[in-house]
Amino acid sequence: MVNKYLYLNTIGCQMNVYDSEQIAMRLAALGYQQTSLLEKADLVIVNTCTIRAKAEQKAFSFLGRLARLKKKKPGLITGVGGCVAQQEGERIFKRIPYLDLVFGTQAIDRLPHLIQKIEKKRCRIVDIEQADKPRFPEANDRIAPASQVSRFVTIMRGCDNFCSYCVVPHVRGRETSRHPDVIISEIRELARSGLKEVTLLGQNVNSYGKKEGLCSFTELLSRVSQIEGLMRIRFTTSHPKDFDEDLIYALGTNEKLCDHIHLPVQSGSNRVLKRMNRKYTKELYLDKVAKLRDTCPDIAITSDIIVGFPGESEADFDETLDLIRTIEFDGLFAFKYSDRPNAPAAKFEEKVPDQHMKKRLQVLLDLQDTFTEKKNQALVGACLPILAEGFSKRQSSGNLNHPLQAVQWTGRTSTNKIVNFYHDDNPESCDDLSPGELVDVKIEKAYSHSLWGKLVEGTAAAERLKGDRSYAA
Ligand code: SF4
Repeated sequence: MVNKYLYLNTIGCQMNVYDSEQIAMRLAALGYQQTSLLEKADLVIVNTCTIRAKAEQKAFSFLGRLARLKKKKPGLITGVGGCVAQQEGERIFKRIPYLDLVFGTQAIDRLPHLIQKIEKKRCRIVDIEQADKPRFPEANDRIAPASQVSRFVTIMRGCDNFCSYCVVPHVRGRETSRHPDVIISEIRELARSGLKEVTLLGQNVNSYGKKEGLCSFTELLSRVSQIEGLMRIRFTTSHPKDFDEDLIYALGTNEKLCDHIHLPVQSGSNRVLKRMNRKYTKELYLDKVAKLRDTCPDIAITSDIIVGFPGESEADFDETLDLIRTIEFDGLFAFKYSDRPNAPAAKFEEKVPDQHMKKRLQVLLDLQDTFTEKKNQALVGACLPILAEGFSKRQSSGNLNHPLQAVQWTGRTSTNKIVNFYHDDNPESCDDLSPGELVDVKIEKAYSHSLWGKLVEGTAAAERLKGDRSYAA
């Protein structure tokens, strides 16, 4: 088979990262090898996201830049997949006239067939068909080799919640859960080839299996935690209305479940939450966080916030700031509201002017920075189990300005904080490390987005999977 090259540009959430892996795996069967060099590509695919206007603009700006490459290389095949493709369909051809393929969120299985057709007939294709029940990869579908320590595995697709600002139910369809046996089989296979950490993905993992009468999410977690070789389990995303005491109990007792939860609150104002159709109140959210912290005192909590939702007043915004002060999140993903096609909020009046949104966003991010720094500073001096992922970015890019950085590794705490580390006495000893090892690192410095520490030998990190701190070193 002649080797051809695929350049895959993934924009958006972890769900798209997982889908891109599936795309690459399916196209490998046609002889397409992935490349990071755009100029080398015979096939370019952009896996798009439409959750915010900015992500959509990013996709179109990349596609616009492809025109020159297509001129130079007329045989190049270009395709757009993901949420923008699902939402826009054939309309994308008008904007990007040289595009060959538009495929929706449920067309990944059909992709090899579509590409073969384009290769033979040089035709243009749109495939945005959506089944009532999306098809998941089966247990016996070929699984890409686990070259990474950590991977995403989808446990469900779509969403039934219809938050008023969100397009997911429209572009990814209704919520459907994957059978637990298939999930377990995929993760077991990945663990056999070296996977140490898995992140279970779904738009609302807390409602896993309910519609289909499969097992509950906590039962699924318990089954996943029995997989041999797997050290850590993460999951995302949790919806506050469905986040329940069973899951809180599991987080407190299941040794393999990481000490981190991403629980998007979106706003601290009940009036705004109602207009967002979030189906919980600020009080309910605070109550769940209090119970969670009672059971898991070391847990890191991160969240999402939308600033400037239509009708958000200064008083509403102040309530959001109050909530941030009360909870002291470990980290926040905050965004300015943007209208999305098909989302009901696009038709809401009282749009907040952009300059107000910008100002509010800055105030909120500045406030959050103080808590992120405080949380990170509190870890200085602690000895934490870190799952070593590989050399740090700085080392890989050759950007070294200190001899010790020549052996700088990177990994994450159970609480999902990035730690770059080295061995101070014998820098070369870090060379003995392998990705996927659980090591103890004594934290020496805290920065706004990462921690810095040194490797501590002789402590039993592997026995403290969940990340209890020790100050032994
Ligand atoms: S829960 Fe709401 S925000 Fe999340 S995917 Fe579903 S509709 Fe969108």
